[in-house]
Amino acid sequence: MSDCIFCKIVNGDIPSSKVFEDDDILVFKDINPVAPVHLLAIPKKHIASLAEATPEDNAVMGKLLQVGSQMAIEQGCTDGFRTLINTGRVGRQEVYHLHVHFVGGPEVLPPMLKR
Ligand code: AMP
Ligand code: ZN
Repeated sequence: MSDCIFCKIVNGDIPSSKVFEDDDILVFKDINPVAPVHLLAIPKKHIASLAEATPEDNAVMGKLLQVGSQMAIEQGCTDGFRTLINTGRVGRQEVYHLHVHFVGGPEVLPPMLKR
């Protein structure tokens, strides 16, 4: 996808602060962090959102969670973190290339959603 910002990061057309890369996925620091640690784990393949993921994507989805988790711990989330995927309009997704947020730091995070 030529107009996708995260595809541009995968291709190296836009710089990013990478913490992990292999043939399938990339983990990098969010440019506008909401906590001391804020990583994004993305598949290199363009998948617009979680709603577009297919059974063929199951292995890479698992890898995003497992590797992202290890990277969050390595970056300082030694006592837990939050994992988040925003999907579509209702989920307030801003970048339409599937990404998993890993958020944390020394302090306990606020509640996830207001009741
Ligand atoms: P979402 O609302 O789940 O689509 O979140 C998109 C996230 O991408 C936001 O947290 C942004 O701060 C982040 N973001 C947007 N552009 C970049 C970029 N060039 N490098 C790193 N993170 C980015
Ligand atoms: Zn993309």
